[in-house]
Amino acid sequence: MNHDEINTIIGISTLLVMIIFVGIPTAAEYYPNLFPTFLAWIPFSLLRSISIPVVSISIGFIIGWYLRGINDRDYSNGPETSEDSSNSINEIEGCVEKDGIIWKGLAQIHNRRVGNVDFPFEPRCPKCRKEMNMESYKINSMSARRDPFGRSSTQTRRLWECPDEDCGHSTSRTTDQQKEARKLFKGEVEKLVESKGEEHSLENIIERIDGEISPRSIWEEYAEVVDSSHVSTNCFP
Ligand SMILES: [Zn+2]
Repeated sequence: MNHDEINTIIGISTLLVMIIFVGIPTAAEYYPNLFPTFLAWIPFSLLRSISIPVVSISIGFIIGWYLRGINDRDYSNGPETSEDSSNSINEIEGCVEKDGIIWKGLAQIHNRRVGNVDFPFEPRCPKCRKEMNMESYKINSMSARRDPFGRSSTQTRRLWECPDEDCGHSTSRTTDQQKEARKLFKGEVEKLVESKGEEHSLENIIERIDGEISPRSIWEEYAEVVDSSHVSTNCFP
Protein backbone atom coordinates (compact mmCIF):
# COMPACT_ATOMS: atom_id res chain seq x y z
CA MET A 1 0.00 0.00 0.00
CA ASN A 2 1.52 3.31 -0.96
CA HIS A 3 1.30 6.67 0.72
CA ASP A 4 -1.53 7.99 -1.49
CA GLU A 5 -3.75 4.96 -0.86
CA ILE A 6 -3.22 5.28 2.90
CA ASN A 7 -4.09 8.98 2.66
CA THR A 8 -7.32 8.12 0.83
CA ILE A 9 -8.31 5.53 3.43
CA ILE A 10 -7.59 7.97 6.24
CA GLY A 11 -9.62 10.67 4.50
CA ILE A 12 -12.63 8.34 4.09
CA SER A 13 -12.34 7.08 7.69
CA THR A 14 -12.28 10.66 8.98
CA LEU A 15 -15.37 11.48 6.97
CA LEU A 16 -17.19 8.42 8.42
CA VAL A 17 -16.14 9.37 11.96
CA MET A 18 -17.51 12.88 11.41
CA ILE A 19 -20.80 11.56 10.01
CA ILE A 20 -21.31 8.95 12.74
CA PHE A 21 -20.27 11.06 15.71
CA VAL A 22 -21.35 14.52 14.61
CA GLY A 23 -23.57 14.55 11.53
CA ILE A 24 -26.09 11.81 12.39
CA PRO A 25 -26.50 12.64 16.11
CA THR A 26 -26.96 16.33 15.31
CA ALA A 27 -29.51 15.55 12.64
CA ALA A 28 -31.26 13.11 14.97
CA GLU A 29 -31.56 15.74 17.65
CA TYR A 30 -32.80 18.56 15.46
CA TYR A 31 -34.80 16.57 12.93
CA PRO A 32 -36.02 13.49 14.86
CA ASN A 33 -38.87 13.02 12.38
CA LEU A 34 -36.42 12.16 9.62
CA PHE A 35 -35.28 9.05 11.48
CA PRO A 36 -37.37 5.91 11.24
CA THR A 37 -38.40 4.34 14.54
CA PHE A 38 -36.29 1.22 14.00
CA LEU A 39 -33.19 3.41 14.45
CA ALA A 40 -34.41 4.59 17.84
CA TRP A 41 -32.12 2.12 19.63
CA ILE A 42 -29.00 4.10 18.48
CA PRO A 43 -27.76 6.19 21.44
CA PHE A 44 -27.52 9.48 19.54
CA SER A 45 -27.07 11.56 22.67
CA LEU A 46 -24.23 9.30 23.81
CA LEU A 47 -22.54 9.63 20.40
CA ARG A 48 -22.95 13.39 20.59
CA SER A 49 -21.48 13.50 24.08
CA ILE A 50 -18.30 11.71 22.99
CA SER A 51 -18.08 13.43 19.61
CA ILE A 52 -15.77 16.22 20.82
CA PRO A 53 -12.96 13.93 22.12
CA VAL A 54 -13.33 11.55 19.11
CA VAL A 55 -13.16 14.40 16.60
CA SER A 56 -10.23 16.00 18.45
CA ILE A 57 -8.30 12.75 18.42
CA SER A 58 -9.07 12.24 14.72
CA ILE A 59 -7.86 15.73 13.83
CA GLY A 60 -4.72 15.27 15.91
CA PHE A 61 -4.04 11.96 14.21
CA ILE A 62 -4.55 13.43 10.73
CA ILE A 63 -2.26 16.38 11.41
CA GLY A 64 0.39 13.98 12.72
CA TRP A 65 0.01 11.72 9.69
CA TYR A 66 0.40 14.54 7.18
CA LEU A 67 3.40 16.00 8.98
CA ARG A 68 4.98 12.57 8.86
CA GLY A 69 4.17 12.38 5.13
CA ILE A 70 5.87 15.73 4.53
CA ASN A 71 8.95 14.54 6.40
CA ASP A 72 9.00 11.34 4.33
CA ARG A 73 8.78 13.32 1.13
CA ASP A 74 11.55 15.67 2.21
CA TYR A 75 13.73 12.69 2.86
CA SER A 76 13.07 10.94 -0.44
CA ASN A 77 13.30 14.08 -2.62
CA GLY A 78 16.10 15.72 -0.68
CA PRO A 79 19.52 16.43 -2.16
CA GLU A 80 21.57 13.34 -2.95
CA THR A 81 24.13 12.56 -0.31
CA SER A 82 27.71 11.79 -1.31
CA GLU A 83 27.05 8.19 -0.26
CA ASP A 84 24.23 7.92 -2.84
CA SER A 85 26.27 9.47 -5.62
CA SER A 86 29.37 7.42 -4.84
CA ASN A 87 27.36 4.27 -5.47
CA SER A 88 26.13 5.57 -8.82
CA ILE A 89 29.61 6.33 -10.25
CA ASN A 90 30.26 4.01 -13.19
CA GLU A 91 33.44 5.42 -14.73
CA ILE A 92 36.68 7.08 -13.65
CA GLU A 93 38.91 8.91 -16.10
CA GLY A 94 42.46 9.54 -14.98
CA CYS A 95 46.11 10.08 -15.90
CA VAL A 96 49.20 8.26 -14.69
CA GLU A 97 52.79 9.33 -15.23
CA LYS A 98 55.45 6.68 -15.62
CA ASP A 99 58.94 6.82 -17.18
CA GLY A 100 58.49 10.37 -18.45
CA ILE A 101 55.18 9.90 -20.25
CA ILE A 102 51.56 10.29 -19.30
CA TRP A 103 48.86 7.75 -20.00
CA LYS A 104 45.16 8.35 -19.92
CA GLY A 105 43.02 5.53 -18.59
CA LEU A 106 39.32 4.82 -18.36
CA ALA A 107 38.11 2.48 -15.62
CA GLN A 108 34.62 1.00 -15.52
CA ILE A 109 33.13 0.91 -12.02
CA HIS A 110 30.30 -1.33 -10.93
CA ASN A 111 29.01 -1.24 -7.34
CA ARG A 112 32.26 0.34 -6.22
CA ARG A 113 34.36 -2.40 -7.82
CA VAL A 114 36.84 -1.74 -10.61
CA GLY A 115 35.99 -3.59 -13.82
CA ASN A 116 37.55 -3.06 -17.25
CA VAL A 117 40.48 -0.68 -17.49
CA ASP A 118 41.15 0.80 -20.94
CA PHE A 119 44.03 2.83 -22.28
CA PRO A 120 42.58 3.87 -25.63
CA PHE A 121 44.80 6.91 -26.22
CA GLU A 122 48.38 7.62 -27.20
CA PRO A 123 50.51 8.75 -24.26
CA ARG A 124 51.13 12.45 -23.78
CA CYS A 125 54.09 14.65 -23.05
CA PRO A 126 54.26 15.50 -19.32
CA LYS A 127 55.62 18.95 -20.13
CA CYS A 128 53.35 20.26 -22.89
CA ARG A 129 50.56 17.63 -22.90
CA LYS A 130 50.86 16.90 -26.65
CA GLU A 131 50.51 13.33 -27.91
CA MET A 132 53.91 11.68 -28.08
CA ASN A 133 55.25 10.15 -31.30
CA MET A 134 56.69 6.66 -31.52
CA GLU A 135 60.15 6.81 -33.05
CA SER A 136 62.77 4.16 -33.80
CA TYR A 137 66.40 4.82 -34.67
CA LYS A 138 68.87 2.32 -36.02
CA ILE A 139 72.21 2.76 -34.40
CA ASN A 140 75.19 1.28 -36.13
CA SER A 141 77.24 -0.16 -33.36
CA MET A 142 80.00 -1.54 -35.60
CA SER A 143 82.74 0.25 -33.77
CA ALA A 144 81.34 -0.46 -30.33
CA ARG A 145 80.36 -4.05 -30.73
CA ARG A 146 81.70 -6.58 -33.17
CA ASP A 147 80.51 -10.16 -33.22
CA PRO A 148 83.00 -13.05 -33.30
CA PHE A 149 82.76 -13.20 -37.11
CA GLY A 150 83.62 -9.58 -37.56
CA ARG A 151 80.20 -8.49 -38.83
CA SER A 152 78.82 -5.16 -37.79
CA SER A 153 75.55 -5.12 -35.90
CA THR A 154 72.83 -2.53 -35.57
CA GLN A 155 70.70 -1.76 -32.56
CA THR A 156 67.32 -0.16 -32.59
CA ARG A 157 66.65 2.62 -30.16
CA ARG A 158 62.95 3.10 -29.51
CA LEU A 159 61.75 6.42 -28.20
CA TRP A 160 58.70 8.42 -27.34
CA GLU A 161 59.25 11.89 -28.71
CA CYS A 162 57.27 15.05 -28.18
CA PRO A 163 56.20 16.48 -31.56
CA ASP A 164 56.84 19.99 -30.28
CA GLU A 165 60.44 20.89 -31.13
CA ASP A 166 60.49 23.71 -28.62
CA CYS A 167 59.56 21.22 -25.91
CA GLY A 168 61.93 18.53 -27.15
CA HIS A 169 60.97 16.00 -24.49
CA SER A 170 61.81 12.37 -25.24
CA THR A 171 62.02 9.17 -23.27
CA SER A 172 62.75 5.53 -23.99
CA ARG A 173 59.98 3.30 -25.23
CA THR A 174 59.52 -0.29 -24.14
CA THR A 175 56.80 -2.83 -24.78
CA ASP A 176 55.74 -3.16 -21.14
CA GLN A 177 55.20 0.53 -20.48
CA GLN A 178 51.50 0.56 -21.18
CA LYS A 179 50.93 -2.58 -19.13
CA GLU A 180 52.77 -1.10 -16.17
CA ALA A 181 50.90 2.18 -16.43
CA ARG A 182 47.63 0.27 -16.57
CA LYS A 183 48.52 -1.57 -13.35
CA LEU A 184 49.37 1.69 -11.62
CA PHE A 185 46.14 3.29 -12.79
CA LYS A 186 44.02 0.32 -11.77
CA GLY A 187 45.65 0.27 -8.32
CA GLU A 188 44.86 3.96 -7.81
CA VAL A 189 41.25 3.58 -8.95
CA GLU A 190 40.83 0.64 -6.57
CA LYS A 191 42.23 2.74 -3.74
CA LEU A 192 39.76 5.48 -4.64
CA VAL A 193 36.52 3.52 -5.13
CA GLU A 194 36.97 0.39 -3.01
CA SER A 195 38.14 2.05 0.21
CA LYS A 196 35.76 3.48 2.78
CA GLY A 197 36.16 6.22 5.35
CA GLU A 198 39.61 7.36 4.16
CA GLU A 199 40.37 10.89 3.03
CA HIS A 200 40.90 9.52 -0.50
CA SER A 201 37.70 7.40 -0.45
CA LEU A 202 35.14 8.11 -3.12
CA GLU A 203 32.44 9.58 -0.85
CA ASN A 204 34.91 12.05 0.67
CA ILE A 205 36.28 12.99 -2.75
CA ILE A 206 32.73 13.65 -4.01
CA GLU A 207 32.03 15.70 -0.88
CA ARG A 208 35.04 17.88 -1.70
CA ILE A 209 34.11 18.52 -5.35
CA ASP A 210 32.82 22.02 -5.84
CA GLY A 211 30.94 21.71 -9.12
CA GLU A 212 29.95 18.95 -11.50
CA ILE A 213 30.70 15.40 -10.45
CA SER A 214 32.16 13.63 -13.48
CA PRO A 215 34.57 10.74 -14.19
CA ARG A 216 37.24 13.42 -14.66
CA SER A 217 36.47 15.79 -11.76
CA ILE A 218 36.62 12.85 -9.34
CA TRP A 219 40.15 12.05 -10.49
CA GLU A 220 41.18 15.72 -10.35
CA GLU A 221 40.05 15.91 -6.74
CA TYR A 222 41.68 12.55 -5.96
CA ALA A 223 44.99 13.87 -7.37
CA GLU A 224 44.74 16.84 -4.98
CA VAL A 225 44.31 14.54 -1.98
CA VAL A 226 46.79 11.75 -2.62
CA ASP A 227 50.51 12.25 -2.48
CA SER A 228 51.77 10.18 -5.38
CA SER A 229 54.38 10.88 -8.05
CA HIS A 230 52.45 9.02 -10.74
CA VAL A 231 48.92 10.33 -10.12
CA SER A 232 48.59 13.14 -12.62
CA THR A 233 46.03 15.33 -14.37
CA ASN A 234 48.30 16.21 -17.29
CA CYS A 235 46.50 14.01 -19.82
CA PHE A 236 43.45 16.27 -19.66
CA PRO A 237 43.50 19.03 -22.24
ZN1 LIG B 1 56.23 18.23 -24.99
